Amino acid sequence: MGSLDQQPEIKRPHVVVFPYPSQGHMNPLMEFAKRLVCKNLHVTFITTERIRERMIKAQDGVAAEVTTVLKDIRIETISDGRSPDCEATEDIDMIVDLLRKVGGLTFEQLIERLNSEGNKVSCIVYDSLLNWVRDIANKFNIPSAFFSTQSCAVHSIYYHFYAGMVKENDEAENGRGIIAIPGLPQLCQSDLSSFLQPSNKYEPVLRMVLNQFSTISKATWILGNSFNELEMAEIQSIDSLIQIRTIGPLVPSAFLDGNNPQDQDVGTHLWKAASCIDWLSTKKASPVVYVSFGSVAVLSKEKIIEIALGLKASQHSFLWVIRPEHSKEEENDIHDFLQGFCEETMDQGLVVSWCPQIAVLNHPSMGMFLTHCGWNSTLESLSSGLPVLTFSQWSDQMTNSKYIEEVWRTGIRLNKERHGLVGRDEVEKSIKTIMEGERGVDLRKNALQWKTLAKKAMVKGGSSDQNIDLFVHEVIAKMTLA
Ligand code: UDP
Repeated sequence: MGSLDQQPEIKRPHVVVFPYPSQGHMNPLMEFAKRLVCKNLHVTFITTERIRERMIKAQDGVAAEVTTVLKDIRIETISDGRSPDCEATEDIDMIVDLLRKVGGLTFEQLIERLNSEGNKVSCIVYDSLLNWVRDIANKFNIPSAFFSTQSCAVHSIYYHFYAGMVKENDEAENGRGIIAIPGLPQLCQSDLSSFLQPSNKYEPVLRMVLNQFSTISKATWILGNSFNELEMAEIQSIDSLIQIRTIGPLVPSAFLDGNNPQDQDVGTHLWKAASCIDWLSTKKASPVVYVSFGSVAVLSKEKIIEIALGLKASQHSFLWVIRPEHSKEEENDIHDFLQGFCEETMDQGLVVSWCPQIAVLNHPSMGMFLTHCGWNSTLESLSSGLPVLTFSQWSDQMTNSKYIEEVWRTGIRLNKERHGLVGRDEVEKSIKTIMEGERGVDLRKNALQWKTLAKKAMVKGGSSDQNIDLFVHEVIAKMTLA
């Protein structure tokens, strides 16, 4: 299959990429956008005005599209329906509703404007959580691609629940019951997404994740950020229900496939990243434990203390990301504790509020990753060949954590003791198991094998690269038909 630059007579397609406006959704969709630009397509990336402001602020006031990495991607904004001085809110129902109603209107106006500029939109790639975008695409007669930011396993689990196809074993009790889903290993209830567990406190989110399937069949394409070699059984078993094309792992190209050496950072940070690379370079003789819980989870003071004391007792160097987003009641306590902790461990570790994670994971000083198992962090750990210690918090992280330990065998899970709290001894012991023991050697070996396979999927002619090519050619075919 030839690339687009070998077919000059074809007008370049214009793809609009629209992620849910949060870090974990913007990152993979921006990486996909960059892949499309490399295939010589025009790409417009959509976000909200509020998020755009944050991106600019996080990059010291430099508009995101003028930084090298995003220079070929046009960034356009829509309204999220909230006033600029609106306080941060956790009312997910309200956020999603305003985005759909007000954001939807401004998105329609934007599509009209883009079309009127003479570079008609050829396809809209929309985040699976924004299924109303597909209705707008239909209204304009534009083909659309549903983009899943989760693993195919999680996608399949949600689909089976949505379709009422899950029968729990009658003996299901205390989270130990077996749930059988074709193509997946046997799951306990505690391996499922927190939204599917009886303790779920986020009913609107469960509705949103299940609702993504209500109109999925109307999308022209279904794309997933995974790769065939990683989730073959999961992809095949769902193939007769939903045909998903894997196009990942979507991490900055320079660190994996090398197709685009300039792509060294995702370029969509919502917090200002600390420059910790020089610090890491001083640690070559003592490999570093990297600790991060992603962009959403906020750990309780108790959890922070147990992790801190476990890290310190392990005596390994560490780099720890703690976003300063605690409740007012906890803020002072945590701040005081961390101040003392940082002073005591000055020679051992560094605590930052955000970092360029993919560069950190690929740094030669990196020893292991203590992660919450967000899907991006999971793929980034596999793509970097790093062993991991998992400490899942909510959402799909429990399922990812199970796969890491039992299926891909690149890590171990922290055992939760009382009320989901992990003790400092367990943290220390688990870090030592990975950093010092035979088990750690095996985990690293497995992780490096996954890194090789991830790279193979993304290099020219690899399984994911072929799927991206196929998508591009089908978009072109639909342009010529229109
Ligand atoms: N990330 C980062 N710097 C940090 C922490 C996280 O760049 O200090 C990035 C990370 O590389 C990943 C994303 O933020 O791409 C987090 O997504 P993930 O799915 O792992 O977790 P979520 O934030 O959605 O819980």
